Amino acid sequence: MSTLQFDPNQLGYNADVIVIGAGVSGLVATWRLVREGVDVILLEAKDRVGGRISSGTFNGETYDLGARWIRSTATQTHQLAHELGIQFVPQYHTGESVIQLGKAQKRFKQRDPLFAPHLSLSYHSIIRKLNRLANELQQRNAKSVARIPILDAISFGAWLQQHCGNRTLRMLFTILTHVHFTAEPNEISFMYVLDQVQAFRGAQHVFALRPAHNQERIPGGMQRLVERLAQQLRTQIATDTPVLAIRQDEESVSAYSRGSSFRARYAIVATAPSIAAQIYHEPAMPAQRDALNQRVIMGRAITAILCYDYPFWRENKLSGFMLSHDGPASMVHDVSPTTSSEGALACLIVGDNASHWGAQPRGERLKALVSQLATWFGEETMAYRGMIERDWNSERWSRGTIGFMPPGSANFIHVMSTPVGRLHWAGSETANDWIGSIEGAVEAGERSAAEVISQLSNAGYLRRN
Ligand SMILES: Cc1cc2nc3c(=O)[nH]c(=O)nc-3n(C[C@H](O)[C@H](O)[C@H](O)COP(=O)(O)OP(=O)(O)OC[C@H]3O[C@@H](n4cnc5c(N)ncnc54)[C@H](O)[C@@H]3O)c2cc1C
Repeated sequence: MSTLQFDPNQLGYNADVIVIGAGVSGLVATWRLVREGVDVILLEAKDRVGGRISSGTFNGETYDLGARWIRSTATQTHQLAHELGIQFVPQYHTGESVIQLGKAQKRFKQRDPLFAPHLSLSYHSIIRKLNRLANELQQRNAKSVARIPILDAISFGAWLQQHCGNRTLRMLFTILTHVHFTAEPNEISFMYVLDQVQAFRGAQHVFALRPAHNQERIPGGMQRLVERLAQQLRTQIATDTPVLAIRQDEESVSAYSRGSSFRARYAIVATAPSIAAQIYHEPAMPAQRDALNQRVIMGRAITAILCYDYPFWRENKLSGFMLSHDGPASMVHDVSPTTSSEGALACLIVGDNASHWGAQPRGERLKALVSQLATWFGEETMAYRGMIERDWNSERWSRGTIGFMPPGSANFIHVMSTPVGRLHWAGSETANDWIGSIEGAVEAGERSAAEVISQLSNAGYLRRN
């Protein structure tokens, strides 16, 4: 691309701030700025708001194909939902659940699955080890990695191989890695796993044996949250407007889309770093930031919802919750609508399984999922009425699920939220806590808006309403 030229006729600013990306993080940043009297333009590449929060419909019912769970401890998201008048309902988990680890199948009810005592002890010993290492890291403020390169030199899979002699237990940690990171243990830096342990207040939350426990969802889909947020904004949201290039100088920052350009005093990029890496910058990004953007890898997952006349598994005293090492789905859970008698099971196909099954025809994927479910839920599984699905790695402007860092990348993580000139960073991957989740996205949106408000205020540009 040749040097970007300013339009010399364009004298003024289109806004004080340009926000790029209308996922929950960009929407929250915009809302916060607008409330402070800041003029904002929100530019979104897709034809809808919400990003990785997205719903699909079947037979008039709405189902989450992206994020769906909020932890009861997610205070900022609860506060946001409260302000928007949105209620949560607890994830259904009454009845027996199942965990499949190769030939071993365990049922469990309300409490953690009862493994053989030695397995249970080893699980808790690994959790304690992870917590201890994460605490040590925190005390040493080791995000600047240089002091502990060894932890970043190996993958979580390699660490498990060294510290977990039991194959069944390694299978268990593989599924729990699928559920939390939507990636394979061998892909993720062990150092990054420890960062997540800090960010989620303990390994027992990252590798929870009952991931559905203490989770809530929004009846009618999580998309209601972002749509309601967008309605409140009373600012310009331009959808179908991918930002292809950004130019900044001492006075302004400009964003260029197809056939249109926007100029403001500051900009917030509210996308996952690897998606932000697709934007051309002038001047070029600092080497550290560019290296970081190149290293954040997006997790791989397909969400498939199987829809039924009614939640037949509940009659058999099953919760609909299943964790499986065999696949295709690593996790299945009940997402039946609360407003009708229909039943639905959400299946999450992750990592290598997502790559494999994403390349198969839809009919083959459906057949494989139904056959997996039938082993636990019985013949009635065959009587599905339909399936809706989303392959997140094929989704343009998302290209995956949740960003994670591969081995050898921790030297770059400390610039995750460091502004570059007039450019600030939001998006769930840039959060301090609850990284990669909706709560992290909300936190990053708030933080980036506060940074820009402070800049505008210091420069005397902030006009209070
Ligand atoms: C299948 C799945 C399940 C998940 N489950 C959960 C869950 O249960 N609970 C939970 O807390 N989290 C979950 N997550 C993670 C959660 O969805 C994300 O952390 C959160 O939604 C990210 O929000 P964000 O605003 O940071 O980014 P995004 O939602 O990715 O928003 C970024 C926006 O920027 C836009 N964009 C990208 N490039 C450009 C460009 N060049 N110009 C303009 N716009 C651009 C994108 O189109 C997108 O709309 C899940 C994610 C997936 C995919």
